[in-house]
Amino acid sequence: MVCTECGSPERMIWPPSSEAPKFTDIDSANWMTLERCSKCGQLWAGVPYEPYASFMYYVAWPQEEREWKTQIQKDEGAALHSWHKSQLKTYSSTLTSQDLKAIEAHRERSYGRDPYSEA
Ligand SMILES: [Zn+2]
Repeated sequence: MVCTECGSPERMIWPPSSEAPKFTDIDSANWMTLERCSKCGQLWAGVPYEPYASFMYYVAWPQEEREWKTQIQKDEGAALHSWHKSQLKTYSSTLTSQDLKAIEAHRERSYGRDPYSEA
């Protein structure tokens, strides 16, 4: 069953689109948050992008809460942040046209500081 709220397990990423669900905060550390879909319980790892750290990109977190809490503390979360970025790239082909529009709008707002423009 695909969740009608977050689209899990088919959906792996949520860019800062107006269609993105409002998740429930669980924890945050080192510029990343762990949130949960209130409908299906799927965990999502969110990273805020500029401007004003107000553009959230979410990636489905495949493990438990505990694993995220451990990994985000290692090297200020460096490994987790590169995992997050690589997931965004890996699943970019699954983005909808609405998603692509949201990313394009963010790219313009941030002068190319969205995760798809950065090296
Ligand atoms: Zn869900």
